[in-house]
Amino acid sequence: MMSGDPLVLVADIGGTSMRAAVVDARGVLIERATIATEPERGLADAAGRLAVLMTEVRANAAVPGEVVAAAVATAGPVDPATGKYRFPPNLPGWHDETMVPTLSEALGLPVHVGHDATLAALAETRFGAGIGMRHLLYVTVSTGIGGGIIVDGRPVTGAHGGAGEVGHMIVAPGGPSCGAGCGGCLEAVASGSGIVAEVRRRGLSWDSAKGVFAAAAEGDAAAREIVESTVRHLANGLASLLAIFDPELVVLGGGVTQGLAPYWADLERLTRDVALPRYAGGVPLARTSLGGDAGLLGAAVLAFQSAGIEARAAARG
Ligand SMILES: [Zn+2]
Repeated sequence: MMSGDPLVLVADIGGTSMRAAVVDARGVLIERATIATEPERGLADAAGRLAVLMTEVRANAAVPGEVVAAAVATAGPVDPATGKYRFPPNLPGWHDETMVPTLSEALGLPVHVGHDATLAALAETRFGAGIGMRHLLYVTVSTGIGGGIIVDGRPVTGAHGGAGEVGHMIVAPGGPSCGAGCGGCLEAVASGSGIVAEVRRRGLSWDSAKGVFAAAAEGDAAAREIVESTVRHLANGLASLLAIFDPELVVLGGGVTQGLAPYWADLERLTRDVALPRYAGGVPLARTSLGGDAGLLGAAVLAFQSAGIEARAAARG
């Protein structure tokens, strides 16, 4: 029998990489590892490789402590009750399949599943920018735009696990369509892929949002226009979310959010300009402090919860 603090074994599955970690109840990542997802090899193949990765990470965790539960954060849409995917755009071919039986059997633990952005929102309320908050939204602005919603301390998942798709709010009617086909949604005009599409429409040559941000920083006029348009659309979307949810905080993460750091004051001002009068004194927006670990940490919260343990950051001071 091992002694020490209780630990959980978690994973985060994205379209590009799968990560596994052992985490303690204070949100410390004790051991971690990453492999490529290669979703085109199919869910069964990925589940087998992830089971091996999680087993290795668990074996390599060099602290005393018992792993009491396991959970997985994943790109979705996914039904948290079954772990079954529903036409996941970044995990093509995984529709209607679940990793849960494979992982549970390999690990000898029940495996809980959550949508990555929802779990990231949960992580922010325990370890991140919104510790102790009960009403928080997490918006990831990356290749696509996703969201997680915490209301009264609980994740909002919707009837089929499909809630939180804030990227598909229509903010530019008549505008370009996203990959899912909705015209003028936030993702189509303010995500990394939306930025690249705008570059192409203008006949320009940058092949990533990062390239556009770099050119804008050097004063390129077209790049600046694209960035300004991105910020304006995001502000419209954020103002709508503030009006609907009255959150204590909206936390933004993802690569495009990082690129927008120099324009943060503009984003706040433009959001305030279109938000309800109750935001005249300022808008509750923050950038994530959890970097790329929000999904893993959110999975840890879920796993500890299943074991009856409340995970949260150690008191500071
Ligand atoms: Zn859309």
